[in-house]
Amino acid sequence: MVNYLSIDFESWAYPNLPEFITLTSEKRKILDKGFVRESAEKILKILDKYKVKITFFILGELYEWYPDVFDAMAKEGHELAYHTHRHESLTGQKVLTDSLRGSNRFIEKFHPCGFRAPEIIMQKEYLEILKKHGFTYDSSIYGPYSFKRTYGQIQEVPVSTYPLIGKPQMMFPRSLSAKLLFTEPPVGSGYLIAAFGRTIGKIYSLINKQGSPFVAFIHNWQIVPPSHALFPDAKYILMHPLYIPYMKNCQSVFEYLLSNFEISKMQNILKS
Ligand SMILES: [Zn+2]
Repeated sequence: MVNYLSIDFESWAYPNLPEFITLTSEKRKILDKGFVRESAEKILKILDKYKVKITFFILGELYEWYPDVFDAMAKEGHELAYHTHRHESLTGQKVLTDSLRGSNRFIEKFHPCGFRAPEIIMQKEYLEILKKHGFTYDSSIYGPYSFKRTYGQIQEVPVSTYPLIGKPQMMFPRSLSAKLLFTEPPVGSGYLIAAFGRTIGKIYSLINKQGSPFVAFIHNWQIVPPSHALFPDAKYILMHPLYIPYMKNCQSVFEYLLSNFEISKMQNILKS
């Protein structure tokens, strides 16, 4: 069965913290210290080793920093999808339209058809904006595969959950919450991939046995942990201990999934 594992491709310098989000693009690029390039090159090598073509959800600003990195990604046959310009939380329609405007160069160049909202926080009315900008699918809610459906020409492809208790209710947004975690764990999230390690493969096999593909994502900074990152510092970890799984090196889990499951680009889901 064909499954959909994608990469949310970011600089480590994009946590939604005020001290980072207000920095200029130039300043963030300096802080990034080439991590975007380094992680892209390493991940492309891994994907080439397993001969897998995958979808990258990319921040438009990174294309301004290193256009050649993303040209190389596309040249290798991977799908370039969109993850906003600077990892903005979509708190209103204007945030999304401004973000799309900021990423004009990236969008004109690659015509991405897929979108993923930062932190999987998406409103249904934003799908109309995506449609106007040429997108054909969105993957910004958590849910079982049975929630995949079309809203005004945009296919919504949920990131996999594994319902344990109760009957899941379709709605927007469907993001990470304590309730979701305990009743319907979002097993497709990079967070649970890190927390479960290779055991996540057993859950994905169960999903496949039930007749559905799994839809999952992991971050580039989980596969190639940045060595020089200023975030998270000890104070942040102390105040946010739930962040700790995100600090795990997931390269071996990533390779395990690539070698044990059939993985494809998200855009192919539209043909299935
Ligand atoms: Zn993200």
